[in-house]
Amino acid sequence: MKTKYLKEWENELNICIRCAYCFEGCPVFKQLSWEADGPRGKAVLAYGLLSGEVEPTKYLADKIFQCSFCRDCVERCSANVSIPDILTAARADLVNAGFKYDAHLDLLDKIKRTGNIFGREIHPPIQGGETPVLLGCRFLERADDAKRYLEILRRLGIKPKVVDETCCGMPFGVLGYKDELKAQQDKFRKKFPYKEFICMCTTCAFFIGKNYPDLKPKYIIEEVAKRLPYYNPKKLGLKATYHDPCNLARGMGMVDEPREILKQIGVDLIELPTKGKGAECCGGGGGLLVSDGPLAERLAERRMDQALGRGVDILATLCPTCEFNIGNAAQRGGGKLKVVNLLDLVWEALR
Ligand code: SF4
Ligand code: SF4
Repeated sequence: MKTKYLKEWENELNICIRCAYCFEGCPVFKQLSWEADGPRGKAVLAYGLLSGEVEPTKYLADKIFQCSFCRDCVERCSANVSIPDILTAARADLVNAGFKYDAHLDLLDKIKRTGNIFGREIHPPIQGGETPVLLGCRFLERADDAKRYLEILRRLGIKPKVVDETCCGMPFGVLGYKDELKAQQDKFRKKFPYKEFICMCTTCAFFIGKNYPDLKPKYIIEEVAKRLPYYNPKKLGLKATYHDPCNLARGMGMVDEPREILKQIGVDLIELPTKGKGAECCGGGGGLLVSDGPLAERLAERRMDQALGRGVDILATLCPTCEFNIGNAAQRGGGKLKVVNLLDLVWEALR
């Protein structure tokens, strides 16, 4: 198999000393428990593909795609080996070798046809302000929520500018479709021609920051945290827990901002057993929802159980995919846990 993309990670694969410090927090390994399910095993498989000692098979491809890109392994690795980047390269080489999944192709086709992951024409609530705001696919589909979050910005002194947008290309990137990613990036730049802007979605903010070196996305919560203290928010008097989205806490290092906001709006925060940069993943990232839906669901159920075990009935988070995945788990679990976006709580405190 040709390993055009893995070749770029040869050094990194050599730096990995196979020590397995990265095992401990890997959510996929915790569920499946085989060596090939953990980050070290996946690094060995990738190395095998690169050296030619391992043949690409459907089993191997399944293992390479069974990762939520949660970055817990990156956080634990003293050599800072980036398993998600290595797996992104391995996925791209596997896709080029013909290991394509119908569920992935279906999702990517939706984006190619309509510019969003839902496969139907959706227009954002166009607004003619000064500061460009990118909604991202998930908030594009949740128009009423998006309008409320734009109103939060307005009440905090920002005039949002919203234009018709298209997907930033994240699904192409994480699922290994590098050529198609480039084409989607070109479309994105044409539709959304701004250098500095606010992102409503954690995943868009993280992906754009990493894959568009000339752009400066700012995640919405940065502005909210900075401005909220000057606008006298109400105290809500609620008890809730908070789930740190991987892309926000480990990806962008934002652990304190959401907690400061919760404090300002009078939410008594009951922390989950794992939090901040050590928080467990909900299972919704890295394309896992389409690569192995049942596994992604199990990870979300684990997070729901942890929240209920803390004696709370409200879980706030920020990433719309975490909200979706844990929210669905909560519904399957009988609706005892209410999953909300932290911005909804901010809205309650401001209106
Ligand atoms: S990725 Fe890092 S922590 Fe994991 S086995 Fe390699 S060197 Fe050790
Ligand atoms: S990114 Fe997360 S799920 Fe993937 S190997 Fe690392 S710890 Fe496991």
